[in-house]
Amino acid sequence: MREHFDVIVIGGGIIGLSCAYYLTQEGKKTLLLEKGELGEGASTSCDDMIFLQSKKPGIMLTSALESLRMYEKLVADLPVDLEFESRGGMVLIESEAQLSHMQEFVRKQQALGLEVELLEQREVRKRNPLISSHVLASTYSSKDSQVNPLQVMRGFVKESTTQGLIIKRKSPVTSLESSGPFHWKVNTAGGDTYESEFVINAAGAWAPQIAALTDIKLPIRPKRGQIAVTEAIPALGKTNFWSADYIVMKLSPDFAKERDPLLNSLGIGLSMSQAQSGNYFLGGTREYVGFDKVVTRTALRLILKEAVRFFPALEKTHIIRTFSGFRPAPDDGKPFMGSVPSQPGLFIAAGHEGDGIALAPLTGYALTQMILNKPLSYDLTELSPARLGL
Ligand SMILES: Cc1cc2nc3c(=O)[nH]c(=O)nc-3n(C[C@H](O)[C@H](O)[C@H](O)COP(=O)(O)OP(=O)(O)OC[C@H]3O[C@@H](n4cnc5c(N)ncnc54)[C@H](O)[C@@H]3O)c2cc1C
Repeated sequence: MREHFDVIVIGGGIIGLSCAYYLTQEGKKTLLLEKGELGEGASTSCDDMIFLQSKKPGIMLTSALESLRMYEKLVADLPVDLEFESRGGMVLIESEAQLSHMQEFVRKQQALGLEVELLEQREVRKRNPLISSHVLASTYSSKDSQVNPLQVMRGFVKESTTQGLIIKRKSPVTSLESSGPFHWKVNTAGGDTYESEFVINAAGAWAPQIAALTDIKLPIRPKRGQIAVTEAIPALGKTNFWSADYIVMKLSPDFAKERDPLLNSLGIGLSMSQAQSGNYFLGGTREYVGFDKVVTRTALRLILKEAVRFFPALEKTHIIRTFSGFRPAPDDGKPFMGSVPSQPGLFIAAGHEGDGIALAPLTGYALTQMILNKPLSYDLTELSPARLGL
């Protein structure tokens, strides 16, 4: 007889594991299928930021604020140290044009409840003398936080397996069939077949391949991000940092004309976060190159040049590691969280692009509530796969 589960989760990244965690907390008999090793996708090839200031005012910011509150609870509930810290963040502004865009952005963020302020040049220098003197102003939010994604995944695995989660590694899903509402059959490359009432597609940048198994065209593409990791060094300040130019460019595409075309072609916007080990993650690119994982010299040279431009003290710092990962990037910039109306029992939790670490708790919790048919205290309709007309 085939093994039967309440829910089968496809994909062992931070999103699939978060879904599995909240489902098992509710007593759901859950199976997680991963094609290789847990975390072999984007969730271990990324930064560590729960960076609220980069979120577009609207559903992305309100969801990130909610998810941050959930992280604060997970710190107590998960049996590992998540390395969670609310260190705060600064977005560094270099020109009057950037400043006027950021003033508007900050006003909208404040209206949605984010504690964020603008600092003038003198205040920036006072708070952090290591920031280059050409920086004109900065934003500051004490709410910007960080977490170690590996530790979060370890915590989810440890707690969920204690609650009965079954994990099958090296089990790529190859077909998905429905023999009626809430009756799914999932086959893996190894020839195993499992049955369930619900299936969650949490396969990150590979989610379109899973969706295609039930004839769904899911508009998510891999967006490569390249990162350089420094040796462990003393902190360059109390906060983590972003340059304003990439945020401004997203708000006002015309601004791209003011930037180096090479930075634009690689989608580079500087982000800098320091892990508890003392290593800085310097990022990153945003490139549509399919599933090509190569790290390029051009991109690294530019990222490092940007980092030194903002922090001249980094000039002599060594880079000890580089890597790249694939953000699951949806065409309309919004992740998919919810059911596929035409295929009862099928859910999608994918397309989190550069926000999957920040949004993982909210996604797992929300998907679980939806499967239990319980109401949520916030409206995620905007993120429903129903927007594809499925
Ligand atoms: C360079 C970079 C920096 C980033 N920085 C941040 C940040 O600071 N903050 C933030 O919030 N987010 C950040 N992100 C985004 C974040 O990493 C992703 O949004 C998140 O990891 C996506 O998680 P996921 O579980 O959806 O996908 P993944 O982690 O990619 O997991 C999907 C899993 O599905 C598995 N899978 C695929 N096909 C199958 C199949 N057929 N059968 C079974 N399993 C399958 C894969 O092997 C993989 O393990 C960054 C991303 C990158 C690349």
